Amino acid sequence: MHKPPPSARTTVRRLPERGDYDPATIRAILDEGLVCHVGFVVDGQPFVIPMGYGRDGDHLILHGSVASRMLRGVAGGAPICATVTLLDGLVIARSVFHHSMNYRSVVIVGRPELIEDPVAKMRALERLTEHLVPGRWAEARGPNDRELAKTQVLRLSLQEASAKIRTGPPKDDEEDYALPIWAGVLPYSPAAGTPEPDPRLPRGIEPPPYVTSYRRRRG
Ligand SMILES: Cc1cc2nc3c(=O)[nH]c(=O)nc-3n(C[C@H](O)[C@H](O)[C@H](O)COP(=O)(O)OP(=O)(O)OC[C@H]3O[C@@H](n4cnc5c(N)ncnc54)[C@H](O)[C@@H]3O)c2cc1C
Repeated sequence: MHKPPPSARTTVRRLPERGDYDPATIRAILDEGLVCHVGFVVDGQPFVIPMGYGRDGDHLILHGSVASRMLRGVAGGAPICATVTLLDGLVIARSVFHHSMNYRSVVIVGRPELIEDPVAKMRALERLTEHLVPGRWAEARGPNDRELAKTQVLRLSLQEASAKIRTGPPKDDEEDYALPIWAGVLPYSPAAGTPEPDPRLPRGIEPPPYVTSYRRRRG
């Protein structure tokens, strides 16, 4: 049973049965993804910029240089739209028209807030690091004061968010099922490769297990 949409502007209208507003679904997609695309408007011109992110409870965490145009602009309270997409498969139909993709995606709209409290900022940076490489925060050198001063951190509430999910085989027109053309789904998923040590790494330092057995959670 899907939860009701949180607002008119996050209600999925095209193929509404694919919409899902359950916070658990939304969190699972965000936790598996790595890149979000952040949309914002500068002087009437829309921009969509790829960024890393993390999640802390019911907030998406974004960070970047204090010089970042997007972060500078939205730290003042400007609205943004953040999107995360997981591609699960290529849907190969009998007709060109019905080719598609299996996916899980999330769209969040809102006005991010700047995190200024030092404790909250450090926690947000931990969430960002742990989102990228779980287990890394405890081992890596933590941010120093100079690095903290150069970094802006924002949080965006997940209150106004929607998920949209497509699964399953192609949906061809009934008369096309008799055509002698292969159809089906080509599953697709990103995978980590073999770790490549930094050429400046001293001998004898082996990659930790959280690197050698890295994999994203499957929502
Ligand atoms: C996978 C990934 C993760 C990233 N994670 C972060 C992050 O967590 N925090 C962060 O601050 N930045 C991140 N970046 C970099 C980010 O995309 C921007 O380049 C950066 O934030 C500067 O944005 P800006 O608008 O201030 O740049 P500006 O230099 O002011 O942008 C000017 C113009 O440069 C072009 N441009 C800017 N960025 C890109 C881009 N990525 N690709 C192509 N053209 C571009 C666009 O035309 C843009 O309008 C990431 C990029 C990628 C691809």
